[in-house]
Amino acid sequence: MKIHEYQARELCRGAGLPVPSGRVIQSIEEAAGAYKEAAAGQGSPLVVIKAQVHAGGRGKAGFVKLVKSPAEAEAAARFMFTNRMVSNQTPPEGLEVKKLLVAAGVEIEKEFYLAITTDRGTRRNVLIASREGGVEIETVAHERPEAILKEPLHPLLGLQPFQARRVAFGLGLVGKQVNQAVAIMTRLAELFVAKDCTLAEINPLVLTPKSTDHPDGQLLAIDAKFSFDENALFRHKDVAALFDASEENPAEARARTFGLTYIALDGSIGCLVNGAGLAMATMDIVKLEGERFAKGGKGIEPANFLDVGGGATEEAVTEAFQIILSDPQVKGVLVNIFGGIMRCDVIAQGIVNAARKHRNPDGSTGFKVPLVVRLEGTNVEAGRKLLEAAKSEIPTMQAATDLTDAARKVCAAVA
Ligand code: GDP
Ligand code: MN
Repeated sequence: MKIHEYQARELCRGAGLPVPSGRVIQSIEEAAGAYKEAAAGQGSPLVVIKAQVHAGGRGKAGFVKLVKSPAEAEAAARFMFTNRMVSNQTPPEGLEVKKLLVAAGVEIEKEFYLAITTDRGTRRNVLIASREGGVEIETVAHERPEAILKEPLHPLLGLQPFQARRVAFGLGLVGKQVNQAVAIMTRLAELFVAKDCTLAEINPLVLTPKSTDHPDGQLLAIDAKFSFDENALFRHKDVAALFDASEENPAEARARTFGLTYIALDGSIGCLVNGAGLAMATMDIVKLEGERFAKGGKGIEPANFLDVGGGATEEAVTEAFQIILSDPQVKGVLVNIFGGIMRCDVIAQGIVNAARKHRNPDGSTGFKVPLVVRLEGTNVEAGRKLLEAAKSEIPTMQAATDLTDAARKVCAAVA
């Protein structure tokens, strides 16, 4: 689960990381007032306006702007609220901006990159840092991997002081900067574990110019990007509360509320499966069989991943159908159920209900697209009977004997 930058900054502040203050606005009208507050708060006219969307690359897209007057703040807010943000991390049509962060701007001497994530290769959490932080970190990682410092974190001890100091020196920090950096890294590593993060990234971590108050400059986190392990959200009500459904793919968000795991893809075969492993196998077989019908180098492919889970109800199955069919690219649906905990009769009843409930664009009910059903396992006889009895209601439905047969039939039906 991702959160907004302003929420990540709050978490960092709560953990004792140095973060400039700011506030969120939701309309152009609030911009001038928020500017005045931010400027007065720090005693300098430099303020930064930042679009709050679940994607990076904002700086380059013009959605992070430094302003020095209420009028400039308003102009920046107008631009961000009335244009969609397009970056290499957004879909091609971009994202609508609904919130802006208006924060104290800082003078920057140097930008660093700092993050904690899990390294699947070493099966440990890892601290990643670079003295070339800012907006080009992906290019640095790709072209000059030696410019990226890494410290694996001990599973029980976490980030150890000598490691943090080694990174601080590796970043070229000197004097009082070193202890500031060590404190920042230590707190970030603790926060990562305490909140079950999958990513805790500060980019950039900046060093401010030397001043009389801070003769060695000050290290500040001015952008933070966090994501969390969804399987651990049950023990972090505070984190779960930060979820912003309006930033999600609407179908994926709807699926989640019914306990379904749905991921939209770009093929034409809607898939409804129980179990994540079986769902992946189903997608492989659809791709394999779909190759036979390849036109212009592209075969028939799955339109989605959908796992109804082990204990789905009839309602959840009906909802799953609605979600699959709401994708205009779906030309056929493959239901692949291997009933263990999941009962085949529950699935069958869910299918029948879905056919009765589904409305086509012309107002009629029932499925227009071909439907291939493969049922096996617990209560399979009862499930087959239910479908048999509903045959006249669902004329586009075919039964399949096994997974390969099912994939072949659905591909042939849409080819
Ligand atoms: P991102 O592009 O979405 O990662 O957004 P960031 O918050 O990281 O901002 C992008 C870039 O804008 C940073 O790397 C900085 O160079 C610049 N920037 C952001 N905030 C400030 C600020 O307060 N002062 C100054 N001088 N530059 C800033
Ligand atoms: Mn950034």
